[in-house]
Amino acid sequence: MKPDFPTRSALVVSALRYRDESVLGYLLRLGELNGYSSLRIIKKLISDYTNTPLFIRPSIVSKSEVVAAIAKLANIDEGELMQSKWKTINSAAGRYFNVQGTSLPLDALMEERAQICPKCLEEHGYLREAWDLSGVTVCALHKIALIDICPDCKKPLSHARTPMTLCSHCKRDLRYIPTEQVSDQEVTLSEYFSALAPYRIKIADDGLSRSQWTQG
Ligand SMILES: [Zn+2]
Ligand SMILES: [Zn+2]
Repeated sequence: MKPDFPTRSALVVSALRYRDESVLGYLLRLGELNGYSSLRIIKKLISDYTNTPLFIRPSIVSKSEVVAAIAKLANIDEGELMQSKWKTINSAAGRYFNVQGTSLPLDALMEERAQICPKCLEEHGYLREAWDLSGVTVCALHKIALIDICPDCKKPLSHARTPMTLCSHCKRDLRYIPTEQVSDQEVTLSEYFSALAPYRIKIADDGLSRSQWTQG
């Protein structure tokens, strides 16, 4: 018999969220732990609570009702998960999010494509929130450049991946793709972004700079 997926109840298998895990990554991981091989099911689980469609983007964490739904599904403390919420700020300068106390413009966030450290994914098996910041371009732990393009199909990595270890387009296992070493200087600069230090991210006009920043 085909099992129904639960409606408005906690998932059978839960897990605690890692301190630096992205909320979207946490949701994807919960789905995997419960054996859901389709994002359609994950979207339905959330929309049963929120009554609105769920878009698989890092900014789901800016919506209180989505964060509350994830807490209910995971059967964890809602107030604690809500502390990770990004507050949306609409200003004349455009759309900003308050991420852990720092205001970041929408284009400083990886909304349209994902980036990962293959080695972190292999060793730890979860998605770090810092990877959702476009100013973070290297993994300080492994001193390698983060990957945002699949080396096989050359398509940008999608956030909508299940399992999260595979390219959603060609199913290449992202844990074992070639990586590129970076300099200590690049690691240091990227750590400023990871820590969300009180600096304003300046995206270079040519889009090439890996780690340019200005004091806010
Ligand atoms: Zn890493
Ligand atoms: Zn691919």
